[in-house]
Amino acid sequence: MKVEVSDCMSGLVEGKNALVLGVASERSIAWAIARRLAQEGANLALTYQNERLEKNVRPLAESLPGTLLLPCDVSDDVQVANLAQELQTRWGKLDILVHSVAFAKKEELSGRYVDTSREGFRIAMDVSVFSLVALCKSLEPLMGEGSSVLTLTYLGSERVVPNYNVMGVAKAALEASVRYLASDLGPKGIRVNAISAGPINTLAARAIAGFTTMLQRVREVAPLRRNTEAEEVADAALFLLSDLARGVTGEVLYVDSGYHVMGMV
Ligand code: NAD
Repeated sequence: MKVEVSDCMSGLVEGKNALVLGVASERSIAWAIARRLAQEGANLALTYQNERLEKNVRPLAESLPGTLLLPCDVSDDVQVANLAQELQTRWGKLDILVHSVAFAKKEELSGRYVDTSREGFRIAMDVSVFSLVALCKSLEPLMGEGSSVLTLTYLGSERVVPNYNVMGVAKAALEASVRYLASDLGPKGIRVNAISAGPINTLAARAIAGFTTMLQRVREVAPLRRNTEAEEVADAALFLLSDLARGVTGEVLYVDSGYHVMGMV
């Protein structure tokens, strides 16, 4: 009998309080992580960016009984502060923070990086990088020994990927932030890590010009000769967010069918 890994209940995060930001649709990487955490017995809080996306996220949240649903546009300091206040009132402590949020204007995700606008650069860095710093600062009082923070990054931080442009530069800053945050929060026992996922067909990914070519290239040359599934990212996330990874912080873990090890691609 074939046992699906995702059918197993390990109890790794049983009873832990987990905040997941970044669910926009059922294809979102954040949604795969949220489902995995719920399946493993975590108490969940999901956020939505705005009223338009609330329509998508509310039914998903309702499909996981007991899930809190809260608003949070991460570019708004007041909303970030309100989120922390709400979790302080409801839970009092936070064990898991998943930051699966990024944004760049569509016009910045095609053509040449050298043509990036000042405003486009600012927005990409603010939403995709500073938001992690702001959330860690606001939620630090709720976190402590054994708490774990996870963000999502991509190989475009280290290599030039056509059209990824300012988002590659933002991901480089995000990965550096993971290291600085790990150093700042480590003395309190709070770990901070990232997963570098291979391309997955989501709303955010579809904004990148030529995205289907990226998917095809991975299938052709990655050691595993296939694309990454959101569920594979969620399984790795479960490891990093659980005590199994209690000795791991400041790390970037690749879940990309091995694509990043290849040289002549
Ligand atoms: P997605 O579109 O499902 O998720 C992106 C999320 O960012 C959405 O939920 C959106 O609401 C949120 N967001 C954007 N601006 C926001 C704001 N101002 N306030 C609050 N939330 C905001 O796409 P995804 O692919 O699941 O992206 C999740 C993360 O994974 C991103 O950091 C992305 O860069 C990263 N990632 C994606 C891939 C991929 O190929 N899909 C690969 C590697 C890394």
